[in-house]
Amino acid sequence: MTSAPAVASLRASAYTVPTDRPEADGTLAWDSTTIVVVEAEAGSVTGLGWTYAPAVGAQVVTDLLAPAVTGRPALDPEDSWSAMVRAVRNAGRPGLVGCAISATDIALWDLAARLRGVPLVELWDQPARPVEVYGSGGFTTYDDATLEAQLRGWLDLGCRRVKIKIGESWGTCTERDLERAARAAVVTAGEAELMVDANGAYDVEQACTVGRRLDALGVTWLEEPVSSDDHEGLTAVREHLRADVAAGEYGWDLAGLVHLAPHVDCLQVDVTRCGGYTEWRRVAADPRLAGVDLSGHCAPYASLPVAATTPQLRHVEYFHDHVRIERRFFDGCVGIRDGRLVVPDGPGHGLSFRRGEAEQHRVA
Ligand SMILES: [Mg+2]
Repeated sequence: MTSAPAVASLRASAYTVPTDRPEADGTLAWDSTTIVVVEAEAGSVTGLGWTYAPAVGAQVVTDLLAPAVTGRPALDPEDSWSAMVRAVRNAGRPGLVGCAISATDIALWDLAARLRGVPLVELWDQPARPVEVYGSGGFTTYDDATLEAQLRGWLDLGCRRVKIKIGESWGTCTERDLERAARAAVVTAGEAELMVDANGAYDVEQACTVGRRLDALGVTWLEEPVSSDDHEGLTAVREHLRADVAAGEYGWDLAGLVHLAPHVDCLQVDVTRCGGYTEWRRVAADPRLAGVDLSGHCAPYASLPVAATTPQLRHVEYFHDHVRIERRFFDGCVGIRDGRLVVPDGPGHGLSFRRGEAEQHRVA
């Protein structure tokens, strides 16, 4: 009889990919995206995970997490997850460390499913449903033609919801925010709901003023109208508006998300930040969050298997920057059909790393 497989090693690498044009939201501008890739090995089998974080996240994996999980049972990712959380006590879990834990947890779950030769959804013994995605991008740096072309591209994929950025330059350009939202509303009229994301750019009073005009345009979702740390502010905006108020992308663990949930209409969960599949599944099962709708934030192909098995899921964010990278770097990314993604049939999450394609962008 062979012994149970153990995690033999973790490998981490990082790749910085230029955006296709300059990008900004309400509170940040960027011209590249860095992805940290984790590969977990047991025997001849490799599991794949990733997160979007600074390149030094790769060093967090090799220095801090690898010693904690090496030698642990490869068929029990939750055991490794607990060991990682214990190991980072003094480093602190939020932020970069949380991203590194998430990427590693995703790799370890992929490894466990591949060792058993089954898709993740089968390992979880959960029925998988098609996942509705919403097109997301609409950066404040786009000119009108670029914005319209991007919106039409998502409509052509059958997306029933699309999202653009507002709150330009820390909320100092509200007339342009509203003009862009009005333009987007014309493009999507009768075909898709319009969502907007202010990335915390407004104060409460400004968010209520802008929000009422967004309500008049038929906008259905206002994300981070104020900082997601301002729970009372989120509640105040929510009470003023018809549109749903959403937040949660900086929820680094279950406790943080439970704390935020009463202040939003839909709780966003980022599988590459919150603690990977293990923490997402704890969020989805927590009785304190019963009745709360969830939405997957970014990294659509990492979210797909766990999102597909989450009954209270509304949708997953099909974020422009991450779609570009994931479809290029990972073999097996399924296409959108009728605005939905279907979980691939293969073992694990069904994706494999195209190392050669990534290599020219390697930074760590
Ligand atoms: Mg957001």
